[in-house]
Amino acid sequence: MKLIYTHENRLLVSNVKNILENSDIAVTLKNEYVGSASGDLSFLNTWPEVWVLNENDYERAMHLVNAALTNETKNEWTCPGCNETNAATFDLCWNCQKENVV
Ligand SMILES: [Zn+2]
Repeated sequence: MKLIYTHENRLLVSNVKNILENSDIAVTLKNEYVGSASGDLSFLNTWPEVWVLNENDYERAMHLVNAALTNETKNEWTCPGCNETNAATFDLCWNCQKENVV
């Protein structure tokens, strides 16, 4: 099993999980329910993590994740309410649920 992706933003992490699952790569989430719930994001090891179950899938998974993330950073938007950065796939701010007004 190999760690493929971790981020303080749980939605980004589950997005990566979905991308991989849609490509028939077996993954599992760790630390899914900790992190932001604690109100303290400074502990890296409480971030949610996506793990690839089969190491043979790792390289393909990494390509998919990189492609998806590059794509998202291009179109990411900054929340007018709280200045958090949101992926293009989000219609609402992950942090304060404010709508993206462009
Ligand atoms: Zn916001």
